[in-house]
Amino acid sequence: MAKKLSEYDEKRDFAQTPEPAGSEPRGDDGEYRFVIHEHSARRLHWDLRLERDGVLVSWAVPKGIPMDPKTNHLAVHTEDHPLEYIDFHGDIPKGNYGAGSMRIFDSGTYDAEKWRKDEVILTFNGDKVRGRYALFQTRGNDWMIHRMDPAVDPDREPFPEQIVPMLARVDELPKNDDDYAFEIKWDGIRAIYYSQPGEPHIESRNLKDITSRWPELRALNRVFGSRDVVLDGEITTLDERGLPSFQRLQSRMHLANDSAIRRRMKDTPAVYMIFDLLYLDGRSLMDLPYTERRAKLEELDLNGPNWKTPSYHVGDGAAMLAASEQQGLEGIVAKRLDCPYTPGRRGGGWIKVKNHLRQELVVGGWLAGEGNRSGRLGALVVGHYDTTPTEAARRGEPQKLLYAGRVGTGFTEATLELLQRELEPLARDDSPFDGRKPPKETHFVEPRLVAEVEFSEWTTSGTIRQPSFKGLREDKDANTVVREGPDQPEQ
Ligand code: MN
Repeated sequence: MAKKLSEYDEKRDFAQTPEPAGSEPRGDDGEYRFVIHEHSARRLHWDLRLERDGVLVSWAVPKGIPMDPKTNHLAVHTEDHPLEYIDFHGDIPKGNYGAGSMRIFDSGTYDAEKWRKDEVILTFNGDKVRGRYALFQTRGNDWMIHRMDPAVDPDREPFPEQIVPMLARVDELPKNDDDYAFEIKWDGIRAIYYSQPGEPHIESRNLKDITSRWPELRALNRVFGSRDVVLDGEITTLDERGLPSFQRLQSRMHLANDSAIRRRMKDTPAVYMIFDLLYLDGRSLMDLPYTERRAKLEELDLNGPNWKTPSYHVGDGAAMLAASEQQGLEGIVAKRLDCPYTPGRRGGGWIKVKNHLRQELVVGGWLAGEGNRSGRLGALVVGHYDTTPTEAARRGEPQKLLYAGRVGTGFTEATLELLQRELEPLARDDSPFDGRKPPKETHFVEPRLVAEVEFSEWTTSGTIRQPSFKGLREDKDANTVVREGPDQPEQ
């Protein structure tokens, strides 16, 4: 099966790459060696190389060597490498074949039990990779690698999927200050980051796959190498003072086209603010108290240009709230120190304390503008549901959309255009609101769009005062929008 090294030589310019040039194949000297390189190239992958007939027979394994017989991994057969490559590690310069860093993930010897053109059975004796494996050809250069021994970690918990983020209720600062950690409330998009070897996956709080919208967060996956990790945090964009700007984020969050995203990424890069660790190396951490999850998160030391682990502070909530107000931040989140992570629940362990009232509201219509905005959008007519879909199902009556007022400020030219574009196809003749009626000049729309609105207070009749538009959200379904407050029902 061993090919000559001509293919290896042809792909490389040895004046530029530090990789060894191919020498004449050498004879076997008894014991077979192997190396697994962790190759951070255009995509992170692992290269398995087995000494055989004087060369290194090689496969690229995108997800790494499987540690469980239940999951076979793809292994793409690549060109033979010279034996000298077995100790090679270093950086292959940009513009060269395989540009990126090549590190030794593991090395050692192996015993070959079977070596055929289309199947190899062997036992690895490495530091990290040990045990009996089969490599078999499926089609052309595509092979699979299968672990034949029992799982390395039989107690391993399955990698989680579709975690609905834990929620915080809106309330005042808790009285028993010392039982809580206080964190800045980041003004962005809640996102769960799933990292498996070579495979990042990001989901919004309504479980939409948003991975391709944030290409700058792919690199976080490389930091974890072969580890399995699930994080919770908030995707933000920062202004020139380094403070989160929901308005800037607006210019990123509605882009779906790859080249537009790549262009925007340069002037408005995302920063993922990481505040929780839900799964690590085969163990769910969600049942652990906040303090233990946080301690393990700190150990990962996740701080780079596009991700940070902001600090938290135990006690002194009032001081932190005041500081957040002074900096123009939205508020803080109090998290009870002994609280486990309860997905999708607003159970009371987490409390958001806001400097201003602010929440999502459903757009049910719009009013035409006057003066220089005449004929165009003047104000959004917004509302919220009386209860959650779950509660509505429980009581056996449909949800009611309640009118909450009109929002006529806070727009930019860009948001006005975006809103007009989004509202047009949603037009309908009748009002989507129940109960109290909106202004009769309202142009009604299907209640699908969710607007983030800041306001001074709720009036006794249930409308908002001095509202200002902050942005459109896509990460929350309109039917889950209810009035936030201390007496809000749990979702
Ligand atoms: Mn490679």
